[in-house]
Amino acid sequence: MRVQAIGVLFLLRYLVVSISSFVAAQSTPPADLIITNAQIYTVNPQQKWAEAIAIRGDKIVAVGDAAKVDSYRGGSTKVIDAHQHLLLPGFTDSHIHFLDGSLNLQHLHLQDVKTLDQALALLKDFAKAHPDDAWLLGRGWDYTIFAPSGMPDKKYLDAVVPDRPVYIEGFDGHTWWANSKALQLAGITRDTPDPPGGSFVRDPKTGEPTGAVKEDAADELIERVIPLTPREAKLNAIRAGMKEANRVGLVRVHSASDLVANIGDLQNADLYDELHRAGEMTVRFYMAYRAAPPALAADSVKEIEAARARYHDEWISAGAVKFFLDGVIESHTAAMLEPYSDDPRQIGSLLWDPDKYKDAVAELDKRGIQIFTHAIGDKAVRLALDAYQHAAEVNQSKDRRHRVEHIETVSAQDIPRFGKLGVIASMQPLHSYPNEDTLHIWAGNIGPERASRAWAWRSIQQAGGVLAFGSDWPVVTLNPWPGVQTALTRQTSDGEPVGGFLPKQRLNLEDTIRAYTLGAAFAGHREKTEGSLEEGKLADLIILDRDLFKIEPSDIGETQVLLTMVGGKIVYQSPAWNKPEKK
Ligand SMILES: [Zn+2]
Repeated sequence: MRVQAIGVLFLLRYLVVSISSFVAAQSTPPADLIITNAQIYTVNPQQKWAEAIAIRGDKIVAVGDAAKVDSYRGGSTKVIDAHQHLLLPGFTDSHIHFLDGSLNLQHLHLQDVKTLDQALALLKDFAKAHPDDAWLLGRGWDYTIFAPSGMPDKKYLDAVVPDRPVYIEGFDGHTWWANSKALQLAGITRDTPDPPGGSFVRDPKTGEPTGAVKEDAADELIERVIPLTPREAKLNAIRAGMKEANRVGLVRVHSASDLVANIGDLQNADLYDELHRAGEMTVRFYMAYRAAPPALAADSVKEIEAARARYHDEWISAGAVKFFLDGVIESHTAAMLEPYSDDPRQIGSLLWDPDKYKDAVAELDKRGIQIFTHAIGDKAVRLALDAYQHAAEVNQSKDRRHRVEHIETVSAQDIPRFGKLGVIASMQPLHSYPNEDTLHIWAGNIGPERASRAWAWRSIQQAGGVLAFGSDWPVVTLNPWPGVQTALTRQTSDGEPVGGFLPKQRLNLEDTIRAYTLGAAFAGHREKTEGSLEEGKLADLIILDRDLFKIEPSDIGETQVLLTMVGGKIVYQSPAWNKPEKK
């Protein structure tokens, strides 16, 4: 027996030595896949650049020069020649409304519309093409098409579609445009009171609602009469959304929550879970729960804890809570420390009582739950920072990485607090896109002094704050490349304004990529397994059609992704990718 065992050991040893001569001293099994001949920017500061990467299962087993990585090649290893294309970690979108955006893929799009006439022409075509839709839904208009008032009116919609309800969300998700039929079905009349935190704009003479609906609280009164989307249609929408996300290079998203159950990611987590169990996931999800004012309810805490206990793997996880502190600057609903410059009677308002919000944050912080706070005006941003500081003090908590979402403007004295308190700045580069809306309405509303700290990501980063970038899709496209370009240029795609909008806030390419990768992973407590290309991390990566490090920043927005891999599996290949795979 003993002699036989020694014989087997000897044989094994002999085999190991022989294989080793092929697999250069590797005692581990060969890689499943090697991507070689690539320009790999790893985002790992210890080893920024590499030529090749080896993957086994869903993880990276080696990154480095071609010879080192080739030592992981075995008989069954698939090899992809990247033909010197740029390879990056897959991108994370740190602020997205995924189901909402996915459902919107089927709706009317007014994103690129420049005039009211164009919008109405598109609506007319859409109505004709969708004769069976009970409601005509859409999104994307911006306030400039309604100049000089800047507010939508039902009369324009009624002229095109009088017989079916029409309901179109503005690009920023804070104002909606309803026709008379939609208002009628929702029972909104001159006698309907405004709900707390929202309003129906009224004709000053008659008191009749004009069809402009402000903020979630008012929107909800209309949303509740819109027929629910059937389960199968939602599943198909998520499938289409994931496809689109992979096509533009996204491998993970942080769902920023929605109040409306029909479109919220966490409220529909069972649909994502169904796709997960069927092996259909190609995007990883971190989902926030929406806490609604006036105070944190005991039931909410139970729901949050239940979601956290149920969803905690690398595909679907929960356990973050989102608070909404204010509105937007364009409609004077963002909470400001001083009155608006164009209308000193307005100062915006907080949607939470500050003490109740602070108590809620402290309670969740005590439980180890991460907080996302929507804060756009400088007063709201300050309150979020105050609440996080308070929670860390009372709980003696560390490394919670609470986040402020948006931060469109910030008081100069609050900029260093992000770094000091370890608070994440979750920002959306494309929101700063310096078009008419930003340079005139947005900047005009708060005046030049405060507008000089518009989307101040570079100042926040220089003071030690961690940046996590995203889109806020469907507010803007989920395609991250126009966002990367805007972070670098602070200009429109036409190069306006010359010299850039607050050029001192321009980021360099490395910092911008980090905000979409390692910074985003850190913001989701995943930097140990995601965000950079390193041994042991998940094999989530993208290959691009152009070398971002060699081209003009103004050409980055047009970047096409050639290949997207999530967990070691190719989930997208562009038709332009010549599939140079060989055994
Ligand atoms: Zn959002």
